[in-house]
Amino acid sequence: MRALVKDTEASEVRLAEVPRPEPNPGEVLVKVRAAAVCGTDLHIAQWTPWAQRAGIRLPLVMGHEFCGDIVEIGPEVTGVRPGDYVAGETHIPCGECFQCRNGLQHICGNLKLFGIHRDGCFAEYATIPAICAHRIPPTVPASVAAVLEPLGTSVRAVLEVQPAGETVAVLGCGPIGLFAVAAAKATGAARVIAADVRAERLKLAQAVGADLALDARHVNVADVILQQTGGVGADAIVEASGSVAAIEGAWKYLRKGGKMALIGLPSDPVRVNLGPDVIFKEARIIGIHGREMFATWTRMEHMLERGLLRVQPAITHEMPLERFAESFELLEAGNGGKVILTP
Ligand SMILES: [Zn+2]
Ligand SMILES: [Zn+2]
Repeated sequence: MRALVKDTEASEVRLAEVPRPEPNPGEVLVKVRAAAVCGTDLHIAQWTPWAQRAGIRLPLVMGHEFCGDIVEIGPEVTGVRPGDYVAGETHIPCGECFQCRNGLQHICGNLKLFGIHRDGCFAEYATIPAICAHRIPPTVPASVAAVLEPLGTSVRAVLEVQPAGETVAVLGCGPIGLFAVAAAKATGAARVIAADVRAERLKLAQAVGADLALDARHVNVADVILQQTGGVGADAIVEASGSVAAIEGAWKYLRKGGKMALIGLPSDPVRVNLGPDVIFKEARIIGIHGREMFATWTRMEHMLERGLLRVQPAITHEMPLERFAESFELLEAGNGGKVILTP
């Protein structure tokens, strides 16, 4: 089968002919319908310091966001069967550690990641542990089903801050931020204010439902949000930029008693003045590492089935796997939204 392979640290990613994988006990073989490109893939392709520290063993078939059809099941698989339409959950739990036994398997103490610690989905076929092959409604189109993993991260963040009737600021309008805007609207946010530094992404933010899209290059985000909220500040912030400056600036306009969900990964430590910014404010800070398994998935699917999540505008490109280089370039330039690759 054809697959996108990173062979060595120094090598360019290439489309290779590799053997079709066989499902081991507890695994399923999925024929990939669509996969989506993520920032993590770019880190692996370029072998950045993050990739060097991520415990990746090369060669690796890349890609972790996908959907497809189960074509074969390995021994000991019971919950799913051939023909099932599934999306991949990237987080592979061990099932035995403290977190796994206490309802927190998405942050398993021995967590492994699909497409990072084992071969992924930029290929015609992929094997995945059965627990991570999540059955999805047949009404969800493949391009949307391929992004349920990142969409679920945004949905989770929004469900944590519970923004119904509130003003939410979404910082960063890459795919995760765009999905957070859509999720905030779907869950009844009264007003969603998005911020980014790229005009194209701000347009997409409006397309997925942002009431106000702020270009942080030209306006002072803190001033605008304070002015828009009568000096009170945002009730909730979803941080999806990973920008140290954006995070350090956000405390100024998080209201007292406000909630901040952090998704974006800053490359450097962030300074927080805990007294004024968190303690006296009684701010609630929530780290988000993926989706709850599988409460987030269930609620996300309910929202999708009822047409509540406006995510299609955030999926801006769809191309065959052969054009992977172009998809990486799009991502690196920070233009557009999610890019789908079809094998
Ligand atoms: Zn991803
Ligand atoms: Zn575990």
